[in-house]
Amino acid sequence: MSVVYLNGDFCPIEQACVSVLDRGFLFGDGVYEVLPAYGGYLFRLDAHLARLDNSLAGIRLDNPHSHAEWDDLLNGLVDRNGRGDQVVYLQITRGAAARDHAFPAHVRPTVFAMSNPLPSHRSTSGVKAITARDIRWDLCNIKAIILLPNALLRQEAVEAGATEAILHRDGMVTEGAASNVFVVSGGEVATPPKSAQLLPGITRDLVVELLYEARVPCDERPVPLQELRGAEEIWITSSSRELVPVVELDGRPVGNGCPGRVWEIADGLYQDYKRQVREGGAD
Ligand code: PMP
Repeated sequence: MSVVYLNGDFCPIEQACVSVLDRGFLFGDGVYEVLPAYGGYLFRLDAHLARLDNSLAGIRLDNPHSHAEWDDLLNGLVDRNGRGDQVVYLQITRGAAARDHAFPAHVRPTVFAMSNPLPSHRSTSGVKAITARDIRWDLCNIKAIILLPNALLRQEAVEAGATEAILHRDGMVTEGAASNVFVVSGGEVATPPKSAQLLPGITRDLVVELLYEARVPCDERPVPLQELRGAEEIWITSSSRELVPVVELDGRPVGNGCPGRVWEIADGLYQDYKRQVREGGAD
């Protein structure tokens, strides 16, 4: 039985209850983070907490905890769930109040965190993706709990026999429904630059960093949809799925239809980094 954190206490998940008046439930008024722990060590905690600060500032909600408190709280959660490889989910909503769109005064935010075993299988043989129009809002850099458009887009992918929907707006790639996107074209790696149209992925940033250190150039620049369609390689990245090669896009093979050579290099760098985290030698 998994142990969760809710508003100051740890308890079995079955006992965790939130009010039906919670603004997360009624309005989707909240933000979240997802971060893996490898061998019980939280992955890139500082980067996740910095992004959490930005998301909270974006919805004008004060962070209920200092970074040191988050560190204790999340490590306490991972310990209580047996350490090992886990994926931690945390969510903060504006709290429970009489239903009104405008922010309530003097309401305590709801703070919730849970952790689940990290699925042991990684997709190294590649996945299928579809392209879809990005139907989301103008603040996609906020990791907001309102995920209905993302869920609709992901479901569209699933119903087409694919794993992910790669989104585009005005002819340019933004990101996946739940991932960031990299392409290799003309032998060079590129990923769309950070903007309000996409989530600044922690995995994306680490991949850019690792490629840079390995002297494999990665350009953070706009990626036209046309370029995606003709790319030699496409990868999607996220904390829970890591680096996944896309081998089929809209029913057509990407490159030769197999995971690419540059993906293998990038994935190797990422797996080495993970090993260091698991041994307590990196964050
Ligand atoms: N974009 C979106 C829309 C996401 O939901 C996610 C995470 N699932 C990502 C990008 C990847 O972010 P991260 O690498 O921090 O998991």
